[in-house]
Amino acid sequence: MRILVTGGAGLIGSHLVDKLMEKEKSEVIVADNYFTGSKDNLKKRIGHPRFELIRHDISRPLFVEIDQIYHLACPASPIFYKYNSVKTIKTNVMGTLNMLGLAKRLRARILFTSTSEVYGDSLEHPQKETYWGNVNPIGVRSCYDEGKRMAETLMFDYHRQNGIEIRIARIFNTYGPRMNIDDGRVVSNFIAQAIRNEPLTVQLPGTQTRSFCYVLDLVDGLTQLMEGTDTGPINLGNPGEFTMNELAKAVQELINPEVQISEVENTPDDPRQRKPDITKAKEVLGWEPKVNLHEGIPLMEDDFRQRLGVPRT
Ligand code: NAD
Ligand code: UDP
Ligand code: UDP
Repeated sequence: MRILVTGGAGLIGSHLVDKLMEKEKSEVIVADNYFTGSKDNLKKRIGHPRFELIRHDISRPLFVEIDQIYHLACPASPIFYKYNSVKTIKTNVMGTLNMLGLAKRLRARILFTSTSEVYGDSLEHPQKETYWGNVNPIGVRSCYDEGKRMAETLMFDYHRQNGIEIRIARIFNTYGPRMNIDDGRVVSNFIAQAIRNEPLTVQLPGTQTRSFCYVLDLVDGLTQLMEGTDTGPINLGNPGEFTMNELAKAVQELINPEVQISEVENTPDDPRQRKPDITKAKEVLGWEPKVNLHEGIPLMEDDFRQRLGVPRT
């Protein structure tokens, strides 16, 4: 089995590669342009005879011979996906089109990592897969939200029109070791700030919620979805819901009780509440997350301390 992982140098992709490489007969090819990912995340794989790393921008066609595609390539942090919004759209739309063209030529199964952002500023809570979403089509987050929605449409149209075997995961906020320290997402910000003894920046109002999934749980969900029979979309996430005020307190308590918490301006269109309904993942895949936030934060802290060169005192 030869497996292509686009975006394999990123947070989720690199942990997925670790899991895929465990299977003795599988060969893994990563295609990544290193926009938000890093070769460092794959350093223990480079040089392995069953592993190949290609510098490639997925918005351009890619011709490789593979049996399965995990299509993850796309910046996930709002700071990075807003930085070059047109590029984010190209990555989602043209990138997914190219991967579907590749899947069609080779009759390969393709899994796409969509997002809870397809639900937008949700009017349903928690979010089920049947909810169609409340997304601003012209806002600063739209390049990502609408890009992912269009990519889901493409996946289903290639499935219906060309019989491509598709899998769609709607991933909710995921965190863990290897996250880019300057990624800009809330968990990595708070952990880096706590270690550096800088104030934790809670964006107002602080009562907005997210549900955070540990990366290894998420990766198990992705491989189970790929190997199962359901096309999805299936929500993958941890239903434990926290306000940003609560998250800041948890990080303070677990990492640095002395650290200050400061309130800062928020960005436009920030969803107010987010929590996955994972009934479908439980029923269809037999999947549910195992690591809760209070267990996951210290695992990420270890990794951040090592990379920042600040050991526990
Ligand atoms: P990440 O930013 O750590 O990884 C994304 C990877 O894609 C990086 O290695 C980056 O260099 C690569 N990439 C970006 N644009 C590319 C392009 N045009 N061509 C080739 N490579 C490109 O993000 P992540 O958290 O690992 O997310 C992986 C996937 O999961 C993304 O599709 C993201 O939208 C989705 N997702 C993640 C979360 C989350 O909370 N982590 C939530 C929902 C969805
Ligand atoms: N494509 C690719 N690799 C392949 C096959 C196709 O990147 O192995 C790209 C191809 O360049 C095209 C896209 O996938 O831009 C869609 O391919 P498809 O065959 O569906 O459409 P067409 O080539 O007819 O536009
Ligand atoms: N946030 C925060 N402080 C930060 C970064 C983010 O309070 O330093 C908040 C942000 O306003 C949002 C939540 O954390 O409500 C999650 O933001 P993130 O960028 O991590 O991911 P999103 O779910 O918005 O894609």
